[in-house]
Amino acid sequence: MRRGSKQTPPDAAKLALNTATTREKWTLAQAIEGCARHGIRGIAPWRDQLKAMGVNRAARAVRAHGLVVTGLCRGGMFPASNVRERKRRITDNLRAIDQAYALGARCLVLVVGGLPPGSRDLAGAREQVAAGIAAILPHARDARIPLAIEPLHPMYAADRACINTLAQALDVCDALDAEKSGALGVVVDVYHVWWDPDLEAGIRRAGEKRLLAYHICDWLVPTADLLYDRGMMGDGVIDLPGIRSWLERAGYTGLHEVEIFSAAKWWKRDPDEVLRVCCKRHHRYC
Ligand code: ZN
Repeated sequence: MRRGSKQTPPDAAKLALNTATTREKWTLAQAIEGCARHGIRGIAPWRDQLKAMGVNRAARAVRAHGLVVTGLCRGGMFPASNVRERKRRITDNLRAIDQAYALGARCLVLVVGGLPPGSRDLAGAREQVAAGIAAILPHARDARIPLAIEPLHPMYAADRACINTLAQALDVCDALDAEKSGALGVVVDVYHVWWDPDLEAGIRRAGEKRLLAYHICDWLVPTADLLYDRGMMGDGVIDLPGIRSWLERAGYTGLHEVEIFSAAKWWKRDPDEVLRVCCKRHHRYC
Protein backbone atom coordinates (compact mmCIF):
# COMPACT_ATOMS: atom_id res chain seq x y z
CA MET A 1 0.00 0.00 0.00
CA ARG A 2 1.40 3.37 -1.01
CA ARG A 3 0.56 6.33 1.13
CA GLY A 4 3.70 8.36 0.49
CA SER A 5 2.06 11.10 -1.58
CA LYS A 6 -0.56 11.77 1.10
CA GLN A 7 2.00 12.53 3.79
CA THR A 8 2.16 15.94 5.37
CA PRO A 9 5.57 17.64 5.11
CA PRO A 10 8.05 16.88 7.88
CA ASP A 11 8.74 19.40 10.61
CA ALA A 12 11.59 21.64 9.36
CA ALA A 13 13.11 21.45 12.84
CA LYS A 14 13.68 17.71 12.24
CA LEU A 15 16.45 18.23 9.71
CA ALA A 16 20.02 17.40 10.70
CA LEU A 17 23.26 17.54 8.76
CA ASN A 18 25.65 14.66 8.47
CA THR A 19 28.88 16.49 7.72
CA ALA A 20 29.81 14.00 5.00
CA THR A 21 27.50 16.19 2.91
CA THR A 22 29.77 19.25 3.18
CA ARG A 23 33.10 17.66 3.99
CA GLU A 24 34.92 18.61 0.80
CA LYS A 25 34.52 22.34 1.41
CA TRP A 26 33.75 22.85 5.08
CA THR A 27 35.63 21.99 8.25
CA LEU A 28 33.56 20.82 11.19
CA ALA A 29 33.68 24.33 12.69
CA GLN A 30 32.26 25.73 9.44
CA ALA A 31 29.59 23.03 9.30
CA ILE A 32 28.48 23.84 12.85
CA GLU A 33 28.21 27.53 11.96
CA GLY A 34 26.45 26.62 8.71
CA CYS A 35 23.82 24.58 10.54
CA ALA A 36 23.17 27.46 12.91
CA ARG A 37 22.91 29.87 9.97
CA HIS A 38 20.37 27.73 8.12
CA GLY A 39 18.27 26.83 11.14
CA ILE A 40 19.34 23.17 11.02
CA ARG A 41 19.09 21.85 14.56
CA GLY A 42 21.16 18.68 14.41
CA ILE A 43 24.63 17.65 13.27
CA ALA A 44 26.52 14.38 12.91
CA PRO A 45 30.28 14.83 12.66
CA TRP A 46 32.88 12.38 11.38
CA ARG A 47 35.85 11.55 13.55
CA ASP A 48 38.56 12.79 11.18
CA GLN A 49 37.05 16.27 11.16
CA LEU A 50 36.39 16.02 14.87
CA LYS A 51 40.06 15.24 15.46
CA ALA A 52 41.11 18.20 13.33
CA MET A 53 38.88 20.56 15.31
CA GLY A 54 39.54 19.03 18.71
CA VAL A 55 36.80 17.25 20.65
CA ASN A 56 36.49 19.85 23.41
CA ARG A 57 36.36 22.78 21.01
CA ALA A 58 33.74 20.98 18.92
CA ALA A 59 31.67 20.17 22.00
CA ARG A 60 31.76 23.82 23.05
CA ALA A 61 30.72 25.04 19.57
CA VAL A 62 27.88 22.53 19.35
CA ARG A 63 26.59 23.57 22.77
CA ALA A 64 26.98 27.27 22.01
CA HIS A 65 24.63 26.86 19.04
CA GLY A 66 22.26 24.52 20.86
CA LEU A 67 22.71 21.78 18.27
CA VAL A 68 21.75 18.16 18.83
CA VAL A 69 24.53 15.74 17.90
CA THR A 70 22.46 13.06 16.19
CA GLY A 71 25.37 10.65 16.06
CA LEU A 72 29.14 10.36 15.84
CA CYS A 73 30.45 8.71 12.65
CA ARG A 74 31.89 6.27 13.15
CA GLY A 75 32.98 3.24 15.09
CA GLY A 76 32.95 -0.34 13.90
CA MET A 77 35.34 -1.99 11.41
CA PHE A 78 35.68 -4.97 13.73
CA PRO A 79 36.82 -7.91 11.55
CA ALA A 80 40.58 -8.30 11.12
CA SER A 81 43.04 -11.04 10.21
CA ASN A 82 44.66 -11.39 13.60
CA VAL A 83 43.97 -10.95 17.29
CA ARG A 84 46.31 -8.02 17.70
CA GLU A 85 44.56 -6.00 15.01
CA ARG A 86 41.13 -6.93 16.37
CA LYS A 87 42.19 -5.63 19.78
CA ARG A 88 43.51 -2.42 18.25
CA ARG A 89 40.10 -1.85 16.69
CA ILE A 90 38.30 -2.49 19.96
CA THR A 91 40.53 0.12 21.59
CA ASP A 92 39.68 2.58 18.83
CA ASN A 93 35.96 1.94 19.35
CA LEU A 94 36.29 2.56 23.08
CA ARG A 95 37.93 5.89 22.24
CA ALA A 96 35.06 6.68 19.86
CA ILE A 97 32.56 6.07 22.68
CA ASP A 98 34.49 8.56 24.84
CA GLN A 99 34.42 11.12 22.03
CA ALA A 100 30.68 10.60 21.54
CA TYR A 101 30.24 11.13 25.27
CA ALA A 102 32.26 14.36 25.21
CA LEU A 103 30.06 15.63 22.37
CA GLY A 104 26.83 14.58 24.05
CA ALA A 105 26.00 12.52 20.94
CA ARG A 106 22.74 10.59 20.75
CA CYS A 107 24.61 7.51 19.51
CA LEU A 108 27.82 6.14 18.07
CA VAL A 109 27.22 4.92 14.52
CA LEU A 110 28.79 1.54 13.78
CA VAL A 111 29.85 0.68 10.25
CA VAL A 112 30.79 -2.82 11.24
CA GLY A 113 33.45 -3.77 8.69
CA GLY A 114 33.67 -6.40 5.95
CA LEU A 115 35.96 -9.29 5.15
CA PRO A 116 39.54 -9.21 6.43
CA PRO A 117 42.07 -9.01 3.56
CA GLY A 118 42.25 -12.28 1.63
CA SER A 119 39.36 -13.86 3.53
CA ARG A 120 36.28 -15.49 2.02
CA ASP A 121 34.77 -16.32 5.40
CA LEU A 122 31.73 -14.04 5.49
CA ALA A 123 30.09 -15.96 8.34
CA GLY A 124 33.32 -15.64 10.32
CA ALA A 125 33.43 -11.89 9.68
CA ARG A 126 29.88 -11.60 10.98
CA GLU A 127 30.88 -13.51 14.12
CA GLN A 128 33.78 -11.11 14.61
CA VAL A 129 31.37 -8.19 14.32
CA ALA A 130 29.08 -9.58 17.01
CA ALA A 131 32.09 -10.29 19.24
CA GLY A 132 33.42 -6.77 18.69
CA ILE A 133 30.13 -5.14 19.58
CA ALA A 134 29.84 -7.37 22.66
CA ALA A 135 33.31 -6.26 23.72
CA ILE A 136 32.52 -2.53 23.63
CA LEU A 137 28.90 -2.65 24.82
CA PRO A 138 29.70 -2.50 28.56
CA HIS A 139 31.71 0.71 28.08
CA ALA A 140 28.93 2.17 25.93
CA ARG A 141 26.41 1.34 28.65
CA ASP A 142 28.57 3.01 31.29
CA ALA A 143 28.90 6.13 29.14
CA ARG A 144 25.21 6.00 28.19
CA ILE A 145 26.14 6.19 24.53
CA PRO A 146 23.85 3.90 22.51
CA LEU A 147 25.58 1.90 19.79
CA ALA A 148 23.78 2.19 16.45
CA ILE A 149 24.47 -0.57 13.94
CA GLU A 150 24.12 0.76 10.41
CA PRO A 151 23.28 -1.97 7.91
CA LEU A 152 24.97 -1.13 4.61
CA HIS A 153 23.78 -2.03 1.13
CA PRO A 154 25.02 -5.54 0.18
CA MET A 155 27.38 -4.07 -2.43
CA TYR A 156 29.60 -3.08 0.52
CA ALA A 157 29.60 -6.49 2.23
CA ALA A 158 33.23 -7.22 1.32
CA ASP A 159 34.89 -3.96 2.24
CA ARG A 160 32.69 -1.91 4.58
CA ALA A 161 29.94 -3.79 6.37
CA CYS A 162 28.94 -7.43 6.41
CA ILE A 163 25.67 -6.51 8.12
CA ASN A 164 23.45 -5.70 5.17
CA THR A 165 19.83 -5.77 6.28
CA LEU A 166 17.88 -4.38 9.15
CA ALA A 167 16.87 -7.92 10.13
CA GLN A 168 20.53 -8.94 10.46
CA ALA A 169 21.32 -5.89 12.57
CA LEU A 170 18.31 -6.57 14.78
CA ASP A 171 19.39 -10.19 15.24
CA VAL A 172 22.65 -8.88 16.69
CA CYS A 173 20.69 -6.52 18.93
CA ASP A 174 18.51 -9.39 20.14
CA ALA A 175 21.55 -11.54 20.86
CA LEU A 176 23.47 -8.88 22.81
CA ASP A 177 20.71 -6.78 24.35
CA ALA A 178 17.70 -9.03 24.64
CA GLU A 179 16.11 -6.77 27.23
CA LYS A 180 15.97 -3.86 24.73
CA SER A 181 17.68 -1.55 27.16
CA GLY A 182 18.25 1.14 24.55
CA ALA A 183 22.03 0.60 24.66
CA LEU A 184 22.06 -1.08 21.24
CA GLY A 185 20.02 -0.29 18.15
CA VAL A 186 20.12 0.56 14.49
CA VAL A 187 20.51 3.36 11.99
CA VAL A 188 17.99 3.35 9.16
CA ASP A 189 19.86 4.88 6.21
CA VAL A 190 17.51 4.92 3.23
CA TYR A 191 20.40 4.60 0.77
CA HIS A 192 21.28 1.20 2.19
CA VAL A 193 17.90 -0.35 2.93
CA TRP A 194 15.30 1.22 0.61
CA TRP A 195 15.27 -1.87 -1.64
CA ASP A 196 14.61 -4.38 1.16
CA PRO A 197 11.17 -6.06 0.85
CA ASP A 198 11.24 -6.55 4.64
CA LEU A 199 12.09 -2.94 5.46
CA GLU A 200 8.71 -1.99 6.88
CA ALA A 201 8.64 -5.14 9.02
CA GLY A 202 12.19 -4.43 10.18
CA ILE A 203 11.35 -0.89 11.23
CA ARG A 204 8.32 -2.19 13.13
CA ARG A 205 10.45 -4.87 14.77
CA ALA A 206 13.11 -2.35 15.79
CA GLY A 207 10.54 -0.16 17.49
CA GLU A 208 11.16 3.05 19.34
CA LYS A 209 13.89 1.63 21.57
CA ARG A 210 16.11 0.51 18.72
CA LEU A 211 15.53 3.18 16.10
CA LEU A 212 18.46 5.40 16.98
CA ALA A 213 19.02 7.44 13.81
CA TYR A 214 17.51 8.06 10.40
CA HIS A 215 19.74 8.99 7.43
CA ILE A 216 18.27 10.42 4.26
CA CYS A 217 19.39 11.01 0.67
CA ASP A 218 18.18 9.44 -2.58
CA TRP A 219 19.07 6.60 -4.95
CA LEU A 220 19.92 7.88 -8.42
CA VAL A 221 19.15 5.98 -11.60
CA PRO A 222 21.66 5.33 -12.96
CA THR A 223 24.14 5.44 -10.10
CA ALA A 224 27.54 6.40 -11.52
CA ASP A 225 29.67 5.53 -8.49
CA LEU A 226 28.85 3.01 -5.78
CA LEU A 227 30.20 5.19 -2.99
CA TYR A 228 30.24 8.80 -4.11
CA ASP A 229 27.09 9.26 -6.16
CA ARG A 230 24.26 9.58 -3.69
CA GLY A 231 21.38 11.78 -4.72
CA MET A 232 19.69 14.76 -3.12
CA MET A 233 16.25 13.96 -1.74
CA GLY A 234 13.74 14.11 -4.58
CA ASP A 235 16.26 13.35 -7.36
CA GLY A 236 15.95 9.57 -7.14
CA VAL A 237 13.55 6.68 -6.61
CA ILE A 238 13.29 6.25 -2.83
CA ASP A 239 9.83 6.62 -1.28
CA LEU A 240 11.00 8.96 1.46
CA PRO A 241 7.55 9.91 2.81
CA GLY A 242 6.61 6.24 2.94
CA ILE A 243 9.70 5.23 4.88
CA ARG A 244 9.30 8.20 7.23
CA SER A 245 5.71 7.13 7.92
CA TRP A 246 6.92 3.64 8.88
CA LEU A 247 9.46 5.13 11.28
CA GLU A 248 6.90 7.45 12.84
CA ARG A 249 4.42 4.62 13.22
CA ALA A 250 7.12 2.62 15.01
CA GLY A 251 7.59 5.49 17.46
CA TYR A 252 10.68 7.21 16.05
CA THR A 253 10.74 10.88 17.05
CA GLY A 254 14.37 11.70 16.24
CA LEU A 255 15.84 13.91 13.54
CA HIS A 256 16.21 13.30 9.80
CA GLU A 257 19.91 13.40 9.02
CA VAL A 258 20.83 14.24 5.46
CA GLU A 259 23.95 12.35 4.38
CA ILE A 260 25.06 12.81 0.79
CA PHE A 261 28.32 11.53 -0.63
CA SER A 262 28.40 13.17 -4.04
CA ALA A 263 31.82 13.74 -5.59
CA ALA A 264 30.59 14.93 -8.98
CA LYS A 265 27.76 17.18 -7.88
CA TRP A 266 26.96 18.30 -4.35
CA TRP A 267 30.53 18.24 -3.02
CA LYS A 268 31.47 20.68 -5.76
CA ARG A 269 28.78 23.21 -4.84
CA ASP A 270 28.92 25.99 -2.30
CA PRO A 271 27.84 24.30 0.96
CA ASP A 272 25.53 27.21 1.79
CA GLU A 273 23.66 26.46 -1.43
CA VAL A 274 23.66 22.73 -0.61
CA LEU A 275 22.11 23.40 2.80
CA ARG A 276 19.47 25.65 1.25
CA VAL A 277 18.55 22.86 -1.17
CA CYS A 278 18.54 20.30 1.67
CA CYS A 279 16.04 22.39 3.63
CA LYS A 280 13.80 22.86 0.62
CA ARG A 281 13.93 19.21 -0.47
CA HIS A 282 13.39 17.96 3.07
CA HIS A 283 10.16 19.91 3.23
CA ARG A 284 9.03 18.86 -0.22
CA TYR A 285 10.13 15.23 -0.61
CA CYS A 286 10.72 13.70 2.78
ZN1 ZN B 1 24.34 6.66 6.90
